Amino acid sequence: MKYHIWTLGCQMNEADSQRLASELERLGHQAASDPEDADIFVVNTCVVRQSAEDKGMNRLLQLQQVKQAQPDKIVGVMGCMVGVRDPLSLRKKLPFVDVFMPPSEPGPMVSFLQDSSIQAEIMAVEAQARAQRDALQDGDLILPAHEHGHLISAHVPVVYGCSHACSFCIIPFRRGIERSRSIGEIVAHVRSLALQGVKEVTLLGQIVDRYGKDIEDGPDLADLLHVVHDVAEETGLERIRFLTSHPNWMTDKLLDTVAELPRVMPHIEVPVQAGDDEVLQRMKRGYTADQYRKLIANIRARIPDVAINTDIIVGFPGETEEQFQHTYDLLAELKLDKAHLARYSPRPNTVSARSMEDDVSEEEKKRRHLELDTLQAEVVAEINQRFLGQTLPVLVEDQHKGKWRGRTPQNKLIFFEDDADWRGRVVDLEVTWTGPWSMQGRLPVSQREADLIVIN
Ligand code: SF4
Repeated sequence: MKYHIWTLGCQMNEADSQRLASELERLGHQAASDPEDADIFVVNTCVVRQSAEDKGMNRLLQLQQVKQAQPDKIVGVMGCMVGVRDPLSLRKKLPFVDVFMPPSEPGPMVSFLQDSSIQAEIMAVEAQARAQRDALQDGDLILPAHEHGHLISAHVPVVYGCSHACSFCIIPFRRGIERSRSIGEIVAHVRSLALQGVKEVTLLGQIVDRYGKDIEDGPDLADLLHVVHDVAEETGLERIRFLTSHPNWMTDKLLDTVAELPRVMPHIEVPVQAGDDEVLQRMKRGYTADQYRKLIANIRARIPDVAINTDIIVGFPGETEEQFQHTYDLLAELKLDKAHLARYSPRPNTVSARSMEDDVSEEEKKRRHLELDTLQAEVVAEINQRFLGQTLPVLVEDQHKGKWRGRTPQNKLIFFEDDADWRGRVVDLEVTWTGPWSMQGRLPVSQREADLIVIN
């Protein structure tokens, strides 16, 4: 059978969808090139913001019509809309859905397919698929055929859930408490991706720098990076990244490991969320603006040429103009490489939704968002300008509107034109133009000649 997965939300959901696709491939199913041809539909949902939740619900309601016209089709819903609890109420709301999968749990779909009346058909296809995949072992991640050699960068969850409970965040309610995966499982996952052509992995966790803290005498993220780095050297995996870090868990050992290991990129994602101590305290983030300031200085001192990205929420309940100004000033002072900006929206059951009034108007939230966006565009334009004329190693991911698109070690997007096939290769590019959101480059003549020699 053919399947199609719609993925909404964060990188963790993308990784979960990839894992579900792997399980479906293992059973012998194939990704549908056109969603209309699919027999199995899955919506991997996000509820971090109301708009994301609405999008998932709309998609599911479209599938309701498909299911009414063609009852044989299989509809699954996955992710944070299902959550970690009994999905009984969701089942009542979506009676046409066949399978409910909590975040990171493709198991219910696998069981459903194995138990259903089409089992005989599945088993025949499964046997064929198994024969084709002898080279892969249990625990390996199988990519859909169309992604072999095309998927250059992939996400690998290393910690599921979160036990921190920031007052605005719904994730601990939906993804459960923190659970680190074993090193063995992660190594199998990374190795199988590398053997299927992936060149870069991003290790994921809601608080990735807490990796291993829930395992007695367990390894930490620095230890894990060393192990994954060994796998990378063995398999040809070019780059390793990790996200998202929490300021309180970024140790010197971790930062020094990033600086030491050549395949771990100088790129840190560490959200501040606000630049005002009172707001941070009400968000229950566990640090002050000054502690964050010191952390940024420490990261920069320990990792040469590092890019640092952050997240910020504007319009948190009770955020005054003066408190917003503290966030603005901090961002202007620190000059970070990227700020993912969000307008606060109350999420069900969270501390902020239950006990704080959402009292900053939507109009004001938009204004604050725009102010930070404008500031950040200026800051990043200035930061990126320093790359002008430099030659940078770029991992080429794919083509976009006739140009090759790749990423620098700092995860900056860069485009260049050339007729040769550069997908999945690391090329040295001379930067010819820089803007806040992307850069343009060209291949130095020597690289093109080297390539011609290799081809000939
Ligand atoms: S650290 Fe805070 S914001 Fe991040 S997932 Fe956990 S509760 Fe949510």
